[in-house]
Amino acid sequence: MNEPTLLSLDDLRALIERALVRGGMSAENAGPVAETMLVCERDGVKSHGLLRLLGFVRSVQVGWANGRAQPRIVEMHASMCVIDADNGFAQVCLTLTRDRLMDMARATGVAILLTRNAHHYAALWPDIEPFADQGFIALSCVNSKKRMAAWGGTKPVTGTNALAFACPRADHPPMIWDQSSSVMSQGDVLLAANEGREVPPGVGCDADGAPTTSPSRILDGGALLPFGGHKGASIAVMVELLAAALTGAPFGFEDESPGATATTSKGGQFLLVVDPRRANLGFGERVNDLLAALVEAGTERLPGDRRYQRRSRALAEGIRITRAEHDSLLALANGAVPAR
Ligand code: NDP
Repeated sequence: MNEPTLLSLDDLRALIERALVRGGMSAENAGPVAETMLVCERDGVKSHGLLRLLGFVRSVQVGWANGRAQPRIVEMHASMCVIDADNGFAQVCLTLTRDRLMDMARATGVAILLTRNAHHYAALWPDIEPFADQGFIALSCVNSKKRMAAWGGTKPVTGTNALAFACPRADHPPMIWDQSSSVMSQGDVLLAANEGREVPPGVGCDADGAPTTSPSRILDGGALLPFGGHKGASIAVMVELLAAALTGAPFGFEDESPGATATTSKGGQFLLVVDPRRANLGFGERVNDLLAALVEAGTERLPGDRRYQRRSRALAEGIRITRAEHDSLLALANGAVPAR
């Protein structure tokens, strides 16, 4: 009865796309968003897979995000492109500009994409892995609505601002890490709340600023805490500056999303692409030298290893989702309106 449902990647992608289109998105907007959710399910990152579908749909249905956005390039220079997402999803902007950014990086050594007036709400490695697959280094960050306490304070000011890095290796898939600047991502706190689990001490505080292990008290007016104390807090500040101040997007504390009815954040995305072939032909081998030294010194797992293992399994066997996820996906794909 509660057996998971096994779906092929194509079937799951088609269902997610249909749910987004029935939820009000154009096919051009739904495709890149569905792909990023599919990639999260394929690589076993449940915090940013189907868990996010309702939030995307709700945001479009209440008019907070534009599911029919037509992004517009507002500045174009030899190595910098500024794009206005038209209040739509950042993944759509990246799909439109990815090939051009690689051409720019080949020509000048670097390319920077600044995306403003955008919603992201997803994991970042699906954005940067395609660049590393083509031999580029890529670094990206996005800011999100205020969910993380200022260092030394207890009120949220910044988002849990994600930062991700990808680099090519010789004869291996790229090395990629992708992380929030909080101890635990908001998605993992949501999962814990949905599953009735406590979170470990140190993850967040409640609305009065008191430490708590209750995910609902953190989510309901409380705040998440930065990883590594003031160091993670400084990274979150850097992300606000690159993804919001530099792109022309709102800071996390300026996000005016209509509370529980729409859950995506409006902010910006910073993306830097570097072509190492313009600097040093042996870069991929040097990456391998460093990673081999880490393994030799006792590192049992490199960032990305877990995702690659789960990906191999999904590519061979398909993707297992819970019965509840399948029911909810089918309902949305058949045009159900999500509860507010
Ligand atoms: P995790 O802490 O789960 O993982 C962070 C990185 O560390 C991953 O690359 C992971 O590799 C690697 N890693 C984890 N454990 C180990 C280990 N023991 N040894 C070596 N490497 C390890 O990520 P978070 O929970 O912080 O973030 C999850 C997601 O949330 C990210 O994808 C991020 O983009 C997203 N996010 C999105 C936001 C948005 O506004 N759009 C905001 C904040 C976060 P592996 O991939 O192999 O597990």
